Amino acid sequence: MRGDGTHANTGLASERVRTRMVERLRELGIRDSRVLAAMAAVQRHLFVDPALASRAYEDTALPIGLGQTISRPYIVARTIELVLEGIAAANSAKVLEIGTGCGYAAAVLAQIFGTVISVERVRPLHEKARANLRPLRLAHLRLVFADGADGVPAQAPYDAIVAAAAGEQVPTAWVEQLKPGGRIVAPVGSAEQRLTLITKDDGGRVARRAIEVVRFVPLKPGTA
Ligand code: SAH
Repeated sequence: MRGDGTHANTGLASERVRTRMVERLRELGIRDSRVLAAMAAVQRHLFVDPALASRAYEDTALPIGLGQTISRPYIVARTIELVLEGIAAANSAKVLEIGTGCGYAAAVLAQIFGTVISVERVRPLHEKARANLRPLRLAHLRLVFADGADGVPAQAPYDAIVAAAAGEQVPTAWVEQLKPGGRIVAPVGSAEQRLTLITKDDGGRVARRAIEVVRFVPLKPGTA
């Protein structure tokens, strides 16, 4: 487990590098002050391999092992911003994340939402995320090892569901586990993926809107 001290001499622990990243997010159109503050707060370099830490504040995806990647900061920010557009009281909202990976986006979500459940299908990544997140002591963030295509029924329903892996369809379990008035933000597609916003109104009617072209790792079945 790495603490802040490891990178103390590289300057990565300083607020300056994250402030620059946040300025870049603002240039790319991220406006929500809660999102920008959360992105400024979480030390992304603590979630990547020490050999890649010097690149942690570039707006780029980076490998986290086992063929998976930590999402690009812009995508994490954009996804959360889309969720927040439909949620009045984020600090009492419950959010499910599909694809914990190294735990970075889960930590960002936990800066904003009252309860965060994050599910990962690859056991070593689930454990890596647990180790990365432990020092942050986020009691309202719970990690689950399971196939997220089934959602996490034990904790449902959710105000929002966000996915970091792309399926050809949005699993019906996610829609079922979403509260009326809730929203799902997920990449959908295979060769070409679109970040997609799915809303469920108070009458239970579901609508979808494609937001922008994205590139995520695939949503895979089962656990590994
Ligand atoms: N949220 C991460 C992104 C991780 S990449 C971040 O902060 O950067 C996407 C993750 O989704 C990978 O770790 C992959 O193993 C996981 N994944 C893919 N299919 C899944 C499924 N069916 N259930 C849960 N996790 C899944």
